[in-house]
Amino acid sequence: IHFGNARFLTSAPSIRQLPTDEGIEVAFAGRSNAGKSSALNALTRQRQLARTSKTPGRTQLINVFSLDADHQRLIDLPGYGFAKVPMEMKLKWQRSLGEYLEKRECLRGLVVLMDIRHPFKDLDQDLIYWAVESKIPVLAVLTKADKLKSGARKKALMEAQEAVPAFGGDVNVITFSATSKAGLPELEAILTSWLNA
Ligand code: GDP
Repeated sequence: IHFGNARFLTSAPSIRQLPTDEGIEVAFAGRSNAGKSSALNALTRQRQLARTSKTPGRTQLINVFSLDADHQRLIDLPGYGFAKVPMEMKLKWQRSLGEYLEKRECLRGLVVLMDIRHPFKDLDQDLIYWAVESKIPVLAVLTKADKLKSGARKKALMEAQEAVPAFGGDVNVITFSATSKAGLPELEAILTSWLNA
């Protein structure tokens, strides 16, 4: 798969308005500021494909990108975890996200991006549990790995690898840096295996 051929397909205001549940799709999720847009841009070799989120708390769209073939898609889910978002909106979003993970037939994998310095916050864990319950494989991506020195980076990876068996499902961990591109081949390999399965 040539991720550099990714192109913007559509934006959906809600999960219900996503393209028809056909083909194969892989979703990217993470707390706001986790580095999701930067990772998507590094993956697709495009500087501006995924916009880095500048406006906390505003209604965010779900962005859909197609790969070489239209039946393979990347789904960029809105960032979560903004303190300022009203509780009612948070709960609504969590419900629809849970429903997406549970019901979406074409979903073959979930990438959860987390800052390597603060991984596995509550919402990250909830999301991973929902995916596991729905038998969706998960890739936990520890982002901004360049922010840590090599020793600390290895320690963070080891701790994460020790933490994931508790989720009980198919959960892998990699470290990643959009800046240095470290971890990009691993990310591509796992996405390719999901998208081609
Ligand atoms: P998003 O809200 O999850 O889409 O996060 P962004 O991709 O917008 O990144 C949030 C902030 O972290 C921005 O200031 C990025 O420049 C920075 N950032 C993202 N990835 C990396 C990385 O790999 N290394 C470093 N040093 N900074 C990063």
